[in-house]
Amino acid sequence: MVSDMGVCYLLGYPVGHSMSAVMHNAAFRELSLEHRYELLPVRPGDLASVVSGRMRDPDVLGANVTIPHKVAVLGLLDWVEPEASRIGAVNTLVNDGGVLKGHNTDGMGAMRALLEAHEELRGSRVLLLGAGGAARAIGYHLTKNVEALIIANRTLQRAVELAEDLSSNTECVASVEACSLTTGDLKTALKEADILINTTSVGMAPHVDESPICADLLSPGLLVFDAVYNPMRTKLLRDAEEAGARTLGGLRMLVYQGAAAFELWTGLRAPEALMLRHVEEHLGGGGS
Ligand code: NAP
Repeated sequence: MVSDMGVCYLLGYPVGHSMSAVMHNAAFRELSLEHRYELLPVRPGDLASVVSGRMRDPDVLGANVTIPHKVAVLGLLDWVEPEASRIGAVNTLVNDGGVLKGHNTDGMGAMRALLEAHEELRGSRVLLLGAGGAARAIGYHLTKNVEALIIANRTLQRAVELAEDLSSNTECVASVEACSLTTGDLKTALKEADILINTTSVGMAPHVDESPICADLLSPGLLVFDAVYNPMRTKLLRDAEEAGARTLGGLRMLVYQGAAAFELWTGLRAPEALMLRHVEEHLGGGGS
């Protein structure tokens, strides 16, 4: 039974940068629901008590989970959907009558956005920058479809571990390799790549003039997808446009992962176009 005046939270630390309240509260208003979405800063040492306490109260519909809790929260839940278990990270909690369930909508959101920009992933060769939570979710879905995936990360060991985890998934059809984030390794990796995806936090506001990759390495044949959505046009995307590459910002991924969470909490179809418009307006206009 869904509460008439339920509350959803964003659990993270920090949470002030998030656009989730903007889009979810707009969606609740649009559907005349009296629910609300609140940002809840939770320090790592407090996660267990929030999850065993407040999150199970009858008025709580659920939550989104963000940095740094997406992996740690897995062990605190009553049930985790098999896909989120295989990804190894949870970004959405549903309070089902005091039973707390975990889902991951990040990877699915990214894939929807990517498939709109690049209809056929089979046969594609992808260079994925980053080996954190977003890379885990996106990498999991990519390796079910693409021909080759190279994971490049500042901390090489994390890229190696993620490549091993993804390769060991029985649904993986891709060759998966790891490399460092150095220009030499990226240059080699990009020689064969059709798609470049950034899941590092490099370029995120306020560091808007930073990019995880040297502009010289970008070329017209690439689709460049940046999971960072604030700013909407990151330095990486500006460099990619300049190089003649096609670009995709992180805004659609944000809205699609949010819409999937909204549907889990309410059982209703999310007004995605309205959610996208509200976030765009909040971030200062322009496209994604
Ligand atoms: P995370 O788990 O903390 O991972 C952060 C990643 O960024 C790691 O690979 C880390 O490398 C790398 N990194 C951080 N600072 C770096 C630097 N100065 N130079 C090089 N690499 C650096 O975070 P996450 O949850 O995956 O999120 C990553 C980004 O994706 C964030 O910007 C987030 O906003 C974005 N995101 C967007 C959406 C969306 O809906 N659009 C959803 C999820 C995440 P090390 O391993 O070396 O530390």
